Amino acid sequence: MSTAHPPETPSSPRQTAAPDAGALRALPSVEQAVQALPAELLTEMPRPLVVRVVQETIDGLRAVALGLADGEVPTGREQVMDLIRKRVEMVSRERLRPVINATGVPLHTNLGRAPLGHAVDALVSVASGYNSLEFCIETGERGRRGAYVERLLAVVAGAGAATLVNNCAGGLVLALRHLIRPERNEVIISRGELVEIGGSFRIPDILGASGAVLREVGTTNRTRLADYRAAISPQTALLLKVHQSNFAIQGFTEETGLDELALLAREHGVPLMHDLGSGAAMDTAAVPGLPHEPTPAESLAQGADLVCFSGDKLLGGPQAGVLAGAPALIRGIKRDPFFRALRCNKLVFAAMEATATAILDSNGSTALQRMLDSPLEDLRKRASAIIDEVSPGLPDGVVLESVTLSGRMGGGTLPAATMPSHGLRLAAEPGGGAPDARELLRRLRITTPAVVGFIAGEAVQLDLRTVAPDQDGLLASVIRSVLAEEGTRG
Ligand SMILES: *Cc1c(COP(=O)(O)O)cnc(C)c1O
Repeated sequence: MSTAHPPETPSSPRQTAAPDAGALRALPSVEQAVQALPAELLTEMPRPLVVRVVQETIDGLRAVALGLADGEVPTGREQVMDLIRKRVEMVSRERLRPVINATGVPLHTNLGRAPLGHAVDALVSVASGYNSLEFCIETGERGRRGAYVERLLAVVAGAGAATLVNNCAGGLVLALRHLIRPERNEVIISRGELVEIGGSFRIPDILGASGAVLREVGTTNRTRLADYRAAISPQTALLLKVHQSNFAIQGFTEETGLDELALLAREHGVPLMHDLGSGAAMDTAAVPGLPHEPTPAESLAQGADLVCFSGDKLLGGPQAGVLAGAPALIRGIKRDPFFRALRCNKLVFAAMEATATAILDSNGSTALQRMLDSPLEDLRKRASAIIDEVSPGLPDGVVLESVTLSGRMGGGTLPAATMPSHGLRLAAEPGGGAPDARELLRRLRITTPAVVGFIAGEAVQLDLRTVAPDQDGLLASVIRSVLAEEGTRG
């Protein structure tokens, strides 16, 4: 270490370089820059937002030109305009927009989990005007919010009563808040169930947010009834079982069954709660490739006093958390002030009503159920039909063929299971001048509607199980237009 030399740059911590007069001159005014943008960008996005993005970009470049920030200002006005346009385009692509899901993952969390095709009519009719959200049609007075959907969900879950909140994580916190007391605040849970549920949220942290104190028992791979029994004390507020929904432990494992836990809980007069996460209402084992996922009704029949599960996982509905169980428990939970902070909006009620109705109606089915039920043979036929439609215009060096695939469920559910599926394989022959798989995948993504597939074996793969059959025509025309781009570039 030496102190002999003075610092070579001025001491201001922000000053990183001298102002660059040439770079400053290259910066347009905001108005000039907005005027010069392609017209379609200004129709896609409201002008004030475009102005904001342009302003922020120019401010950033100016800070660099003044030596106040690290970075580079492109040389020349045209290059600067190019950079501004790219930034505006990038922001424009962040818009929520429909996507054709060709990943083969029905509950893709990044793509909005369960699709709501079965609820569209209900959503449109409730959203486009007023509705009876808290209005009693019979008396013309104030009514009970969500009364009907709660009845439906209670039937779906085989429970005495049910209610719904914004999501399952919220439902878990709410239930724990209701069940703990200052002098009785311990929640007994197996170390094998202290899981991360995705988006870097962890069960221990979620439980902590409720004010509960965790009493961990057992080990990662084995937790016995005796472990629970030894941990029960006058401080015990409840026993909690968390379904290992998004991972699988194999080998030397032991999990205490819900029925045994229920007996223990009853013996000590404490409630037993089961966080199911995925909340399948159907028998998932009826779908080729899937194992049986425990249903809320099974948990309650085995003795759980309360269950919670997601609305938008295997139930196939909107984002929500369903709580179901004994009527007195549900009533108490609904009186907790925190319930108000987690309550659902009218669109969720509408979509959930349509979802639960589709599940209970022997002639109905959710969009998710329809996807899971599509026979392989249908997927094969659809793949052939798309190939027949697109093939005539295929550029040289590009191959489009039918391919056997295997999909996963997604959304942190049934992690070990794969479903046999079928779809399309789009590949460029190396050296043929056609774009490679990564480029094809990107082009499919940036079209409207965006098509999201995946790459395997140097080729783009499009799984048709997660593509609604009425989108096949659209998918064919997107593939054609993406390849035609190549044709014209020649
Ligand atoms: C997914 C999951 C949750 C969270 O559900 P959200 O509805 O996404 O909040 C909670 N617990 C388990 C076990 C889960 O699998």
